Amino acid sequence: MKTCESTLFEKSRPGRRGTMPPETDCPKVQPGTLLPAAMLRQTPPALPELSELDVMRHFTRLSQLNFSVDTHFYPLGSCTMKYNPRVNEKAATLPGFAAIHPLQPESTVQGALGLMHSLQDCLAEITGMDAITLQPSAGAHGEITALFMISRYFQDKGEKRTRVLVPDSSHGTNPASAALAGFEVVTIPSNAQGGVDLEALRAHLDPSVACLMLTNPSTLGLFETGIEEIASLVHEAGGLLYYDGANMNALMGLARPGDMGFDLVHLNLHKTFSTPHGGGGPGAGPVGARGELVHYLPGPRVVQDGETFRTEVPRHSIGRVRTFWGNFLVLVRAYAYIRTLGAQGLQDVSRAAVLAANYMRVRLQDHFDLPYQGTCMHEFVLSARNLKAARGIRATDVAKRLLDFGFHAPTIYFPLIVEEALMIEPTETESLETMDAFIEAMRTLAEEDPQVLHDAPHTRPVGRLDETRAARKPVLVWPE
Ligand SMILES: *Cc1c(COP(=O)(O)O)cnc(C)c1O
Repeated sequence: MKTCESTLFEKSRPGRRGTMPPETDCPKVQPGTLLPAAMLRQTPPALPELSELDVMRHFTRLSQLNFSVDTHFYPLGSCTMKYNPRVNEKAATLPGFAAIHPLQPESTVQGALGLMHSLQDCLAEITGMDAITLQPSAGAHGEITALFMISRYFQDKGEKRTRVLVPDSSHGTNPASAALAGFEVVTIPSNAQGGVDLEALRAHLDPSVACLMLTNPSTLGLFETGIEEIASLVHEAGGLLYYDGANMNALMGLARPGDMGFDLVHLNLHKTFSTPHGGGGPGAGPVGARGELVHYLPGPRVVQDGETFRTEVPRHSIGRVRTFWGNFLVLVRAYAYIRTLGAQGLQDVSRAAVLAANYMRVRLQDHFDLPYQGTCMHEFVLSARNLKAARGIRATDVAKRLLDFGFHAPTIYFPLIVEEALMIEPTETESLETMDAFIEAMRTLAEEDPQVLHDAPHTRPVGRLDETRAARKPVLVWPE
């Protein structure tokens, strides 16, 4: 199926219209009397001229060229591309949520504030934190919020801590957020099992360390079994432990970052708590804190006074990190998701996500390298280095060929410590049949003629693109 959709400019026909506005009843004025004649256009703007039906078909066809969670298996590791139940969408479109204004008096939006308060409580319970802010609008935004809090906290204590430790398996946003918050970033190597190398950690812990940012399970999909020792080491050195909660889909109701010794966390509501994501938002990256750190959370936060909900700025608050309340309708979706599943349901989600990943790992590890052995959590990382060495097939070839089989590609070339990485996260919402079909496709392509893979995709409107050139020299206007 090769379809190529021409641009609206190419489809344009002079005089074709989608609307028929009534004759204007404004008095006609002489050109040049309202605006200086020299500033008036001599020619009409070069806009495409089309009927409403032309436009409708154009955009509908374009939407069908996309791969999405609703149309294709989307095992994009670390991104938790699970199905988003439509009941959450329904909740978010209720006029009582969708049609309110953030500047309305608090007394008129008690329901919305109550929902936010309840969501704060749910997330505090799930993470084992004392208090939550719902303001940040993405994971990376949550990270930098927490780093600003850490910075202010040590400043108030009169401690000059300038360094942030990040494992070499960490998501790129971790070092980026730390650098943006003004810290010096120090990379901690992983050990042979994929965990934090404790010797290297010890060697770097000193009074200049503000915090260690850790993802658990890591981006390798592995649970950090040394977490209690890591927490004591960091705390003994006077530092804080930060939890990148993007991988919370593995742990809901099963283990809590607060119990592991983490002081601050962020969650990605748009990953674990099932709101549609990809393409840049909107998302939500709530931040949780424990102990004294709660006083540094961004404000205002929602608090309860008897029957009434009101807002309050924490004592040492770093201030706002987002206009108004964050992405409120994302919060509604996450709340609906949590309440429809309940505590038992959330546990079942995490158990099923872990089971699905392990099923796929075991069935694929004979065809691809598995650099880090053992039971995984919600995702696992294969390496195509065996195929590269034997037949010159790279992870990117695998990713492109998968499109021909009707599957979105896994995350590739991340984490950076795995050569030719293929990071696969099936999530709990896929059926056994879908996972089997993907496994079959992966096994088939691993045996194919390398040239077929190098030239893939074969069934899409465009073939292999020069992605570097597309990023460096984008063509943003038509005609060029
Ligand atoms: C997705 C992700 C982030 C960043 O979250 P955004 O919402 O994309 O900013 C951080 N860490 C990990 C491990 C992630 O998977």
